[in-house]
Amino acid sequence: MQKTVLSLIFTLFLGQLAFAQEEYYFPGEKFDPAIPSPSQFLGYPVGDWHTRYDLIVKYFEKLDQLSPLAQLQTIGYTHEHRPKVILTIASAANMGNLEQIRLRQIQLADPSQPKPDVNAMPSIVHLGYGVHGNEPSSAEAAMLTAYWFLASQSDLAKNLRENMVLHIDPTLNPDGRDRHSLWANSNKGFPPVASPLDREHNEAWPGGRTNHYWFDLNRDWLPLAHPESRVKVDWYHQWYPNVTTDFHEMGTNSTFFFEPTKPFGSENPAVPRKNYEDLNPRFAKYFAKYMDQIGALYWTKEVFDNSYPGYGSTYPDIHGGLGLVFETASSRGHVQNSQRGDITFAFTIRNHVVNSLATMEAALDNRVYMHDYLREFFETAVAEGGKDAAKSYVFGDEFDESRNRLFVKFLLDHKIKVYENSADVTVSNQTFKKGKSWVVPTNQPQYRMVRTMFEYEKKFADSVFYDASAWTMAAAYGMPFSAATGAKSGSEIKAVSSPNFTFPEGKAYAYLIDWSDFYAPKMLFEMQKAGIHVESVHRPFSSQTQDGVVSFSSGTLMIPMGFQKLKAEELATKLKELAAKNGQKIYAVQTGLNVTGIDLGSNSVSAIQAPKVLMPVGTGINSLEAGEIWNLMDQHLGMPITKVNMEQFGRVNLHEYNTLILPSGNYNSLSESQVNHLKDWINRGGTVISLKNASLWLNQKGITKEVAVELKDEPKDPDSLPFNTRNDFEGAKEVGGSIYLAELDLTHPIAYGYHRKNLPVYRNTDIFIKPSADKYLTPVKYTANPHLGGYISKTNLEKLKLSAGVIISSVGQGRVVHFFDSPNFRGTWFGTNKLFLNAIFHGDNMD
Ligand SMILES: [Zn+2]
Repeated sequence: MQKTVLSLIFTLFLGQLAFAQEEYYFPGEKFDPAIPSPSQFLGYPVGDWHTRYDLIVKYFEKLDQLSPLAQLQTIGYTHEHRPKVILTIASAANMGNLEQIRLRQIQLADPSQPKPDVNAMPSIVHLGYGVHGNEPSSAEAAMLTAYWFLASQSDLAKNLRENMVLHIDPTLNPDGRDRHSLWANSNKGFPPVASPLDREHNEAWPGGRTNHYWFDLNRDWLPLAHPESRVKVDWYHQWYPNVTTDFHEMGTNSTFFFEPTKPFGSENPAVPRKNYEDLNPRFAKYFAKYMDQIGALYWTKEVFDNSYPGYGSTYPDIHGGLGLVFETASSRGHVQNSQRGDITFAFTIRNHVVNSLATMEAALDNRVYMHDYLREFFETAVAEGGKDAAKSYVFGDEFDESRNRLFVKFLLDHKIKVYENSADVTVSNQTFKKGKSWVVPTNQPQYRMVRTMFEYEKKFADSVFYDASAWTMAAAYGMPFSAATGAKSGSEIKAVSSPNFTFPEGKAYAYLIDWSDFYAPKMLFEMQKAGIHVESVHRPFSSQTQDGVVSFSSGTLMIPMGFQKLKAEELATKLKELAAKNGQKIYAVQTGLNVTGIDLGSNSVSAIQAPKVLMPVGTGINSLEAGEIWNLMDQHLGMPITKVNMEQFGRVNLHEYNTLILPSGNYNSLSESQVNHLKDWINRGGTVISLKNASLWLNQKGITKEVAVELKDEPKDPDSLPFNTRNDFEGAKEVGGSIYLAELDLTHPIAYGYHRKNLPVYRNTDIFIKPSADKYLTPVKYTANPHLGGYISKTNLEKLKLSAGVIISSVGQGRVVHFFDSPNFRGTWFGTNKLFLNAIFHGDNMD
């Protein structure tokens, strides 16, 4: 026993000597012996294991403790409470002067300030790793790169430390990383198994790519739906790095990709051409040089979308820096067989290490050039903004204070200047009221982000999109907005104020709450949870309230005091508390006899059932869509939703729930008896909310009878086409993600809380369904001319015109509410969330 322990120690010691200097990653390089290498610190050679996130942070803490040149800061926490950290490394002189360096960089990015002497400014480089948790090589590369930058005795490293402030974010997505690392480590064999079929290489649903709510964080730099990106973008605006990287992995049989991306085809129209045509080629030479040295294969310029502003490698391009995406072949696991032999984890790590070094060397050689570019970027932004036909954009929804507040905060988070609108203004038949609308001038340093928020792009050089081709955020937030040449702006908004409504004191016959506000559903949920009986008024009316006569629209919430379990004072106290918390205005009335419209005891008033919601998840289900729903319910309503694995679905007694959400996915694993149970439950009054192809499945099972749109003269594909055009030709038929105009039936419960017939919606499916045979049950329909922004083929656009956006199928006592667009897309379509929430709270009134 003792001998074994001794020999183990001996082996470990020898092993440590062998890997202490990280010979594989940095052959022949000398390091400062006072700084432990990652392998020394971890006790295993980098590449032998998927390093747990807490150990990566511990290693960075160690560097911070040991060296005055390294400083670790926590900038926030993930949903699962892992710290989000940034390690900063620079020379002693620069570390002692860090705040000045930061302020000078901000000054450089601000054209209203004098330009500082860029020759004296260090390059600011931000190496970001691991936004996709199951692309794990990059976080290991982050540790090695930090070690090299801090401890290497090479001339290059010394030069870099003197002339660069390096920021390292080891993992943009710590929650996803640990989910995947646990999988890879716990399924590792001894010896490791290279067969792609091995369990180690095939993660269980939903995999580690995404964050806690199954969101792709490499889409979230624009929407900022998650804390990981919110703190990141906030940090970004404190530094305006000259160069920002984003390291990924792709298929095992691939090689390595670095920018430039495909010219024009997938580039962002707001980014200056100089970025693509000058900056990218300058840097590419360095990547090629480093990859040539290790004999690695690589490619550039083909595919890889670089247009969507929410990518970690595109957002910096819209902020005066250079964003760089790298993709290495993946070992996905510790070793996996490929067409070029076994790909090891260490091999993939080394690819990212050498490109980290190449990035820094390129940034160093182009230090002054990149500073000048940063300045020029913001100067030309102001100038171009000044020339824009739209001198400003005016926006605001007079019916929804919470959504206004969310949107203003969102613009401020992206450092866009927003002003109060100081006078009522009418532009293209829309009136924007003073005090309830805001003005964003185009003549500002963030002009290119202003375009991102308010402009629709319709012209594209290419027709194949890796992702969304439209991202007009004002539309996503459901904001009425318009270019407004003459709008006058009042004082600048620096922060979003909290709502402040006075609660009506004294006795009440009933309380009323308008349903238009974004947080009205949250208020309803919390009232029901507190045991308050709430009803919905299904017709418009007006009542005498504490504020005089007030008009209310369909869907208004009514709390009748004669039907409550809580005592009147208790109820008022609770209501006051919830109203303050959720920013809701409460009206008190002293009589059920209304001034106009129906009275409060009408047959068109009904009790609202508390929703009990079940959603199947797991193998076969679209995790992104399911995650959007889970996130909406958790983060915006605080309402529990039971996520049942498909494997357990057969064991569920559906009668314990009244609402079933079916995200897109494959439901064929359900047995006939399970389908019969589902049919029986719907027939007895259940509400199904189904999205896109889940609706097709219900149709196939005979539960619904909706019909697909077919064009009379649909153009036929040519009989024969060149082989190498296949991807482009077939890709052009897809609806990758774009924005359309739908028309609402404002009298239908799906539209409760909406005041305008026209609503922009987001769509990323090519399922086109005819309106219902029942003329009352297609309350959301695409208009005759629906295309607002993004790419769509002509044939698809024809099919989309006047087709159904939302359609309700009556099934016995129950119903299916079908959504063919994406009401909860990327956690950012606040404008259409209400449609979805109406289906949850008012589903039983929809047919
Ligand atoms: Zn990736």
